[in-house]
Amino acid sequence: MTDEVIVAGAGIWGCTVARRLAEAGRRVRVIEARAAIGGNARCETDAETGIEVHVYGSHIFHTHDPAVWDYVRRFVDFNGYQHKVLVKYRGKVYHLPLGLTLVNKFFGVELSPGELKDFMADEAHSTAVFDAFFRGYTSKQWGRPPEEIDPSIIKRVPVRDNYDTNYYNDYWQGIPASGYNSLFERLLDHPNVSVECGRAFSLDDWDGRTRVYYSGPIDALFGFRYGALPWRSLRFETERLDVADFQGTSVMNYTEAEIPYTRIHEFKHYHPELKDVMACGRTIICREYPQPWKSGDEPYYPINDESSVALVAKYRAEAAKLPNLVVGGRLGDYRYYDMDQAMAAALAATAQGC
Ligand code: UDP
Repeated sequence: MTDEVIVAGAGIWGCTVARRLAEAGRRVRVIEARAAIGGNARCETDAETGIEVHVYGSHIFHTHDPAVWDYVRRFVDFNGYQHKVLVKYRGKVYHLPLGLTLVNKFFGVELSPGELKDFMADEAHSTAVFDAFFRGYTSKQWGRPPEEIDPSIIKRVPVRDNYDTNYYNDYWQGIPASGYNSLFERLLDHPNVSVECGRAFSLDDWDGRTRVYYSGPIDALFGFRYGALPWRSLRFETERLDVADFQGTSVMNYTEAEIPYTRIHEFKHYHPELKDVMACGRTIICREYPQPWKSGDEPYYPINDESSVALVAKYRAEAAKLPNLVVGGRLGDYRYYDMDQAMAAALAATAQGC
């Protein structure tokens, strides 16, 4: 093992690993295949309006892990943004998650917290809610009916017996007040860290002795020798509009199967504290269209089924044969990580400081 380590991939996992290793005294060479750091949390601030555009779709940092919350706030302050997700179904707007606000409006009733459970135990009610809010969205998102996807995915949407319309159960959340890019820049701003963008890591260029922390796609690392892992990809259609506020909120889901996109993001709502940006007479929205992944597309969501679980196990076995290789992050682990989970995994991977 040499003094230098390579961190291949500068998303949240890679940047956190790099910082931890640098502070442990290692010389860290970060290489990133894309033109810029930040992974899919990379943003671009629109020059005309000052709106922070989430180039790869909305990212909201949320966590219940005190170690992660303490760590991330060493680098950025959060703006206090609380995420709500609204849903438009057949022309009416509802609040997720599945709670009293949604159910009472949908059925035109006034249930109390104690009555909700029994009401939803009636199959006609639960089926109506599922069909309106989950069946169409899930089919669009995953390209298969909800019965064929891992149930843990839909369970990401909280179920509550109250009027709390906060989308997350996590204790802490927000958007970096200074922007997402500043989080990554500050993580890598250390005298022991050098950064080179536009360079992909390849096993062919590796001496096998330098320790490597790799967070690119695990199948690409091994030249897809057992075949490509399946992903869902996304296409984004961004539009600039001459209105101050298009939809009054940051994310509106469209759950009907006939509407080809799953949601519309309106980025200015992520920074309500930026009064000039909010008051600006223009806004930027983005329609999100899920699509099957093919070679060359961005991989967004791992598709966990029997065959992909078996396939990723083969690649993990290959990685395990290389003692100086550590694989992590969403692409490396082939896991549906939220940002805090990727950061927690990076903290764990560097717990020994090596
Ligand atoms: N989901 C749904 N309807 C919605 C929102 C979510 O059916 O209006 C389901 C869908 O299967 C989705 C999953 O719940 O993939 C998780 O939703 P989440 O908002 O966590 O998705 P993400 O923001 O990670 O894409």
